[in-house]
Amino acid sequence: MPLLVMKFGGTSVADLDRIRNAAGKVRREVERGYDVIVIVSAMSGKTNELVGWVEQTSPMFDAREYDAVVSSGENVTAGLMALTLQEMDVPARSWQGWQVPLKTTSAHSAARIEEIPRANIDAKFAEGMRVAVVAGFQGISPEGRITTLGRGGSDTTAVAFAAAFGAERCDIYTDVDGVYTTDPRIEDKARKLDKIAFEEMLELASLGAKVLQTRSVELAMRYKVRLRVLSSFEENTENSGTLVCDEEDIMEKNVVSGVAYVRDEAKMTLISVADRPGIAAAIFGPLSDAGVNVDMIVQNISEEGRTDMTFSCPVNQVARAEKAMQDAKEKGEINFHDLVADTDVAKVSVVGIGMRSHAGVASQMFKALSSEGINIKVITTSEIKISVLIDRKYMELAVQALHDAFGLDKAA
Ligand code: ADP
Ligand code: ASP
Ligand code: MG
Repeated sequence: MPLLVMKFGGTSVADLDRIRNAAGKVRREVERGYDVIVIVSAMSGKTNELVGWVEQTSPMFDAREYDAVVSSGENVTAGLMALTLQEMDVPARSWQGWQVPLKTTSAHSAARIEEIPRANIDAKFAEGMRVAVVAGFQGISPEGRITTLGRGGSDTTAVAFAAAFGAERCDIYTDVDGVYTTDPRIEDKARKLDKIAFEEMLELASLGAKVLQTRSVELAMRYKVRLRVLSSFEENTENSGTLVCDEEDIMEKNVVSGVAYVRDEAKMTLISVADRPGIAAAIFGPLSDAGVNVDMIVQNISEEGRTDMTFSCPVNQVARAEKAMQDAKEKGEINFHDLVADTDVAKVSVVGIGMRSHAGVASQMFKALSSEGINIKVITTSEIKISVLIDRKYMELAVQALHDAFGLDKAA
């Protein structure tokens, strides 16, 4: 039988009524003749609550126990979804990650999927089960401990299942009706895209557009999964939502295709470190060992053998970063005069494949920001994106100004 993967995010399973609504969509696909693998997230807000409990209990928590706690939200919705389907006379069964077993690396809280053996679920399909409901976001490490795939990880569970089971399509049901030129909650004029190229979606996701987890886009690209984002609150048709596809399949091509943001960033500056070979390794090695996700890095001009080193990281990792740097200083591995943390910054980025062949995007971006009086603190660029760090209070304004400046409300 043909198979579909349908993933429902937190707001789509936020209460029993919404679970029933989602189950109704699953039943429709079963009636059309599909076997379905449903991937569910935790009820909206649940994972944040669980993370909060972990942080209150143990600020420098053991990531294995973090995973044990935060993975639990998905267990509840998986069971409830299976029960709801059974009540609708759809033969359904739930699986937690370890029962599949969805095998991952041991990188707790950011684990990668290594293998999804099909035997257990296939055996149930062979017995007449029509829907396998799988708890998203979680797996099991080689050591036999529960792991999680990073925030937003149910998207990745969904795509990985679609690849492993050769699904006809992977439908990601969420609380917006597709991928937009920017977050429609920040910019009213954001425009829904019928199609977006894998590479652009990958950049947008990695630069903060949380509609899809970055890793899910990577997997879809690698395994050629037909990936669609659509609303769980609408009657969907064959063509609704946004299809993530190859660049060649897209007619419309704006130079810039989207604007993304990360609200809670921090800018850290090590004042007066020795400017010598090996200094970057001595700084960023311990940060990485401490689990700090360093993003932008800028080394300032050196004077008399000393320099300032600036980097950005998520604001909730500032304490870890500070501790790692103080420890390295005490061990004599690095020496610095001071460590200054600016915890009120945000990152705003513009993305577009068209930038490869089109000059002037950076200057247009900087002009748009300056005409709103927004000061840029750090800049980074790559082939198809430009990112800036700015004061957090200007983040919405910056997103809107850039959306306007690049005419994203209009199709090319
Ligand atoms: P789910 O719980 O269904 O996984 P998420 O909250 O993770 O949903 O992702 C959906 C949200 O992503 C939307 O509500 C929207 O605010 C946000 N978002 C950010 N950027 C975009 C974008 N470019 N297009 C669509 N949604 C976006
Ligand atoms: N519940 C997890 C989170 O909120 C995973 C997901 O929803 O994708 O991050
Ligand atoms: Mg999500």
